[in-house]
Amino acid sequence: MVFGFIGKILKIDLTKLIFRFESINLEYKNKFLGGAGYSCRYLIERLNGNTDPLSKDNILMIMTGPLCGTAAPSSSRFVLCSKSPYTKLWGESNCGGYFGPELKKAGYDGIIIEGKAKDPVYINIDDDIVEIITDKTLWGKSIRETRDILLNKTHNSKAKTLCIGQGGENLVKFATINSDGRSAGRTGMGAVMGSKNLKAIIVKGKTSKTKIGNPKKFKEANKKILKFILNTDTIDILRSYGTSSGVLNTYALGDLPIKYWSLGKWKDVMDISAENYKENLFIKKSACYGCPIACGRIIDINNEYYNAEAIEGPEYETIAGFGSMILNNNLESIAIANDLCNEYGLDTISTSSIIALLFKLYNEKKINKNDIDGLKLEWGNYEVLYPLIKKIAFREGIGNLLAEGSDAVGKHFGISKEEIATVNSLEVPYHDMRSCYGMAITYLFSPRGACHTTADAYKALRKANEIDFSSLNIGKTDIHSNTKELVKYTANLQDYRALYSSLISCVFFNPPPSYLAEMINSLLGYEYNLNDFKILGERIFTIKRLFNLRMGLTPKDEKIPQVLLKPKKEGVVRGKYPNYKKLKIYYYETRKWDKKTGYPSEEKLKFLGLKDLVYFF
Ligand code: SF4
Repeated sequence: MVFGFIGKILKIDLTKLIFRFESINLEYKNKFLGGAGYSCRYLIERLNGNTDPLSKDNILMIMTGPLCGTAAPSSSRFVLCSKSPYTKLWGESNCGGYFGPELKKAGYDGIIIEGKAKDPVYINIDDDIVEIITDKTLWGKSIRETRDILLNKTHNSKAKTLCIGQGGENLVKFATINSDGRSAGRTGMGAVMGSKNLKAIIVKGKTSKTKIGNPKKFKEANKKILKFILNTDTIDILRSYGTSSGVLNTYALGDLPIKYWSLGKWKDVMDISAENYKENLFIKKSACYGCPIACGRIIDINNEYYNAEAIEGPEYETIAGFGSMILNNNLESIAIANDLCNEYGLDTISTSSIIALLFKLYNEKKINKNDIDGLKLEWGNYEVLYPLIKKIAFREGIGNLLAEGSDAVGKHFGISKEEIATVNSLEVPYHDMRSCYGMAITYLFSPRGACHTTADAYKALRKANEIDFSSLNIGKTDIHSNTKELVKYTANLQDYRALYSSLISCVFFNPPPSYLAEMINSLLGYEYNLNDFKILGERIFTIKRLFNLRMGLTPKDEKIPQVLLKPKKEGVVRGKYPNYKKLKIYYYETRKWDKKTGYPSEEKLKFLGLKDLVYFF
């Protein structure tokens, strides 16, 4: 009996159009749980620095975690992992919705996709019946169109889907995979799916159930957690306003990026606030499986340009990206840009950041309208968003360059890398490191390039924040200090979130760690203490590090561009910036990594039980 798991993985070879069932690897499961940790252990010995991410040699893993499909709140997400075609490093993007629990109900902890189909295919899973169906007619369809056609074809309106849009088909490097309205956004997993000629997966499950070690204790732990989280202010706000509540909060803290990271104040910020959103766009809430928080927002758009009903509304990151980043105060245009990205299957953070870079270059007169298909990009001109997003998805005109990402745009126009807001080729998400220096560490050492969920230091380390992780040696600290303490706390937070990436729990779900430990122990039949969970998290974080070193990452790649460090002239973080080089030295010392090679010390690898992996290097 494998508690927390079904015990079976579906393995599909698209080159041969065959499938087989494989037992879950117990050694991997015991060391890394499920989700991203399990996937990384599987992929690290099968991919290397020479693997072309868009070739048949890359592997796409879709994994659930042990809590998925159980009554555990906010913990039924699933993850897509691969070698990223965007960063050429660890590719990971997790997604909410209902696909993960349905996959488990169908009898699988995950799916491993290898090879490449000759013609476009989709996969239909109905418990043990698995069909790989060649269907050229779906190619070229948007995500909603694809989903509607598939649900009709299979006569099963309750089935759950994973689809790519035109972005994934056209190998846009930051293409997403969408699951019934929710997106796995970052690192281009949609392009990997597209490169395999795989348009969609549809799943319906009936027979399987996750096995629980101690059902009584598990139920008690869940009850305790629910009572706790529903009494926190953060959850109250998320329930009322969704993540758009972040707009004014981040603005007040100097965390919101304005005019491509250059300003500290913006007179129009109220126009893109949660209050305005609630009054003018909001229809109802939406939730992922088993989530009492329900941070999703369903909206309608009805105007002369655009009509769409009951669609997912923009999240905080998207509002910042298509809003304050380009001085656009028109919330409806942000919602339209969001929906276009969702329909074509494009990551809204990367897409908006690339477009904002174009605005910056245009307004600084480093490019002109002839360079960008005649478009005029005066700050705030939201009308250009729609054609630009479409051009990216279809790789038309300037879109062909933009589809390669910010670094490629900079290279093409001869712009210094210091002016481009990427770390390890991934566009920096919308939390400003000058507002919390821990984010410099987060972005520098996130295994998937700049990522804010790898360690949400901007929330966890603030003295005013209600999240209490002190039992994991993650304390509140001076977030504007270049200290060893800040580094240590951020590193510990990374380890804790790495544990989340294997469970897979939502980062908005923050019960006291001891409650979470009770829940995991009762599910898996473990008797781990908090220190054991800390080691598990560090092991999961470290294997992703090893994956990146195997792909060719070196310490020299870990840089932060000046555009993110230049002190602002106004606002609450005026004059502040992290000394990231100093923080980086402290980080290497804290992690016991070799400063020349970037490798963890032998002693550390031994401690984490990862020494056997050195065999693959
Ligand atoms: S908080 Fe939001 S994103 Fe997280 S699981 Fe709940 S509904 Fe999904």
